[in-house]
Amino acid sequence: MAVNRPAPTAATSVHEGILRRQSLRESAARTYARSLPIVPVRARGLTIEGADGRRYLDCLSGAGTLALGHNHPVVLEAIKKVLDSGAPLHVLDLATPVKDAFTTELFATLPRELADDARIQFCGPAGTDAVEAALKLVRTATGRQGMLAFTGAYHGMTAGALDVSGGATDVRVTRLPFPYDYRCPFGVGGERGAELAARLAAGVLDDPKSGVPAPAGMILEPVQGEGGVVPAPDSWLRRMREITAARSVPLIADEVQTGVGRTGAFWAVEHSGVVPDVMVMSKAIGGSLPLAVIVYRSGLDAWQPGAHAGTFRGNQLAMAAGAATLAFVRENRLAERAATLGARMLARLQGLAASHRCIGDVRGRGLMIGVELVDPETTAPDALAPPPAPRLAAEVRHQCLERGLIVELGGRESAVVRLLPPLTLTDEQADAVLDRFADALATAERSVRSRGVRAAPVG
Ligand code: PMP
Repeated sequence: MAVNRPAPTAATSVHEGILRRQSLRESAARTYARSLPIVPVRARGLTIEGADGRRYLDCLSGAGTLALGHNHPVVLEAIKKVLDSGAPLHVLDLATPVKDAFTTELFATLPRELADDARIQFCGPAGTDAVEAALKLVRTATGRQGMLAFTGAYHGMTAGALDVSGGATDVRVTRLPFPYDYRCPFGVGGERGAELAARLAAGVLDDPKSGVPAPAGMILEPVQGEGGVVPAPDSWLRRMREITAARSVPLIADEVQTGVGRTGAFWAVEHSGVVPDVMVMSKAIGGSLPLAVIVYRSGLDAWQPGAHAGTFRGNQLAMAAGAATLAFVRENRLAERAATLGARMLARLQGLAASHRCIGDVRGRGLMIGVELVDPETTAPDALAPPPAPRLAAEVRHQCLERGLIVELGGRESAVVRLLPPLTLTDEQADAVLDRFADALATAERSVRSRGVRAAPVG
């Protein structure tokens, strides 16, 4: 397969100059910019074009934000309409027709039981702001402090959100094992592994000597995203709902990444029929612009006025773009489309796994897909699965980029290749993505084999 690299031109020197200045001037904390040396100048749908003229199929979609891909006409139209209307762009948290329409559209997508009794809080613009609001809400409503969270979780980068994410050590947070089937913490996997995880959660809450005081809430992702695309079994989610409801512990579903059709249902909790007490939403609800909200049962609305304020809670362009996106996904049944196309892509990837032992697991839901890469030559006697292969994964990402395909890595050791294409992906585009991925994998496997697949990735 031809590698996507044009001959050097004036455009490539513009591209290189911008990247060089970025590396000199921007923070060492920059992330995607390190593994994706792209200077996007134009984009439409699945495709991004760089300043050097190279074109890419974007299966990162703004970390799962772009339900309709880049610059979808209905999104652009909605933004233009606000701009042309003369409406103020900054309105704090005042009521506006644009916000009213967004709220109506969002409520129309919610599980009925929640929509009928819901309050919405507009938060600061990022997903992590809404996670903070959710944690503070349940702490205020219950008067308790502790929180139950899960291994492998990712909820954001502000202090409270970090505390409930997998890598943290906050004393107020009790971490329970997430039912990660491929690397089951109980060594059994399947329904049995999930049931054991649920029993442990119930046991921690009921044992007066567990050392865990009654918590203010439990926060979970229906499919762990950054944690490596790990779907929670529906039966386990229902158990979490029963366990929390029976003990008056509010259940917070973080749908920041899984929402708006991504997993094959409008909201991922719908697969299990679970209705949480709080839903955290961001990414796709802003139609590619920053927007974050929590929606919760009215009984939790114990805030004092101003208890969770912020200057940027009224992004009119994001609300208009978001309302247009929500309506388009609903009217065009894109959640169902994601379910069908996602199942087809998973099947093809499973076929690929049959001829590549370095593919340890292929999993996902809808168009949230993960391919866990492993070192098949090394097996610990008591391990369910071979160890992860982060260096191979980094090489696959690099080889994908060389072929004009943008993918991201996730998982505990960054060994899971993640595909998050727009829900508007066509069958032909899906084939093109998987052709490039298969070719990149074959090349990466060859080039890494001689050097050892487990060494830490560079950059
Ligand atoms: N929750 C989940 C499930 C996420 O995937 C993310 C971001 N990847 C966040 C919260 C944080 O969102 P943001 O980066 O917008 O703060």
